Amino acid sequence: MSDYNVQMIEKYRGNFLREVEANVEEGDWVKMCMQCGVCSGSCPFGPHWEHPPQEIFMLIRANKRDEVLQSDSMWMCTSCYNCIARCPRGLPITHIMHGLATYAKRLGIAPKEQPTAKFAQLFWNNLTKTGRVNELKLGLALYFMNGFGEGVKTALKMKDIGLGMLKTKRMSPMELLGGHKCQDAKGLQAILKKAQEIEDAKIGKSGIGKAGA
Ligand code: SF4
Ligand code: SF4
Repeated sequence: MSDYNVQMIEKYRGNFLREVEANVEEGDWVKMCMQCGVCSGSCPFGPHWEHPPQEIFMLIRANKRDEVLQSDSMWMCTSCYNCIARCPRGLPITHIMHGLATYAKRLGIAPKEQPTAKFAQLFWNNLTKTGRVNELKLGLALYFMNGFGEGVKTALKMKDIGLGMLKTKRMSPMELLGGHKCQDAKGLQAILKKAQEIEDAKIGKSGIGKAGA
């Protein structure tokens, strides 16, 4: 268990709602939920999740810290905004879902093999190298994220789409050699390094909390 997680458990012992209010984006809205269930009923994926949004808010108030933060439900949110458009109390549900996922990642207790979390990290690693997403490298990293054998199988399955993109110049093999970058990639990296330092200071530099959740 990470130092930061232990620190937060001690700081907010027995009051997970207060912890969420203080550390999760838009977390102070959770207490406004009246449990009507409209968000869960409107969420296109809610019925397939372990905990749809209304249940997440109920669990937060019931002090079920592990059940919420170790769930992969928040990671499945596609930001479709159906829930926000329909919530009678105007809760920024989408932001809270992403905020909870980010907080769990910062604490080091997000589900390890969660595919969205893995993709988010690959996307972040790719983007921050040059300031531009290298789509070819990102695609390959995505294919091979579950191992070499799986990667080859996926690449073969997708080969017609890949060849079509090459033919129509939607993708260039030259991107493999480095690809395009923003004008001041070093400047961008300096900004990100500073932001990481600020983030580390906030959590008492416990060796976790890399951006990109
Ligand atoms: S729609 Fe809004 S008030 Fe109703 S359960 Fe969802 S978050 Fe709570
Ligand atoms: S924004 Fe996320 S939680 Fe809300 S309805 Fe869409 S998928 Fe569900």
